[in-house]
Amino acid sequence: MQIHIVGCDGGIAPGKLTTCFQLSDSLIIDAGSICGGMDLEAQSKIRDIFISHTHLDHIRDLGFLADNMLGEIDRINLHALPEVNRHLKAHFFNNVIWPDFTRIPSPKNPFYVLNDIDAETKYGFGAITVLLVRVSHVVPSTGFVLEDQESAVVISGDTGPTDRIWEICRTYSNIKGFFVELAFPTALQAIADASKHFTPATLKKELCKFEKDNTPVALYHLKPKYAGQIREEIAALGNSVFRFLSNGEIVRF
Ligand SMILES: [Zn+2]
Ligand SMILES: [Zn+2]
Repeated sequence: MQIHIVGCDGGIAPGKLTTCFQLSDSLIIDAGSICGGMDLEAQSKIRDIFISHTHLDHIRDLGFLADNMLGEIDRINLHALPEVNRHLKAHFFNNVIWPDFTRIPSPKNPFYVLNDIDAETKYGFGAITVLLVRVSHVVPSTGFVLEDQESAVVISGDTGPTDRIWEICRTYSNIKGFFVELAFPTALQAIADASKHFTPATLKKELCKFEKDNTPVALYHLKPKYAGQIREEIAALGNSVFRFLSNGEIVRF
């Protein structure tokens, strides 16, 4: 399996791109930086997008992608929990924030088709199987277990301390890597707790739930203002399983 890290930042600043992982030419997880991080030709090949949750840093380029590709792509399927799709329609594609591309160019053949999917059910896309697992965030949110013939990879999604996704991980014997969110430094623990994100302190505690056999843990979703501070705190832990994802990187398992 290989994953193109289109964007992995927890906010926007020059050179920063929010969450977007490309699994194949046509398959994407989260739309934080599809348009900011992929050229128009690459955008034209997208057919399926999984959405972890409705926060703007994960959905914003759905709007610009529709603008760019209407007339070139007939349809793109948006796969998400039913409540995520419902909120996308009510609060983003509502003809106020953005035109309703779930009914454009026509209600019968819209650009975006909202596909409700169930958590903890495996969906196959070519060689890759995608499983969504609910995690602990301030809005309905999922992490992902991705699997192909050789390996499995776990993406935490936006979450604070959580249990179910790690329970499910224990049923897999072929996990080759974890991508885990980390948003704030420990000094902002109260904000992290209120917004349900990790700091290095809570991540350190969480690690005992999922780390096994020194499986690498790649961290992402750092808030740009605190990225340096967070990196120093992680370095101080002295744990070699940790590293940080980079925008544009291809991770192979
Ligand atoms: Zn979020
Ligand atoms: Zn986020």
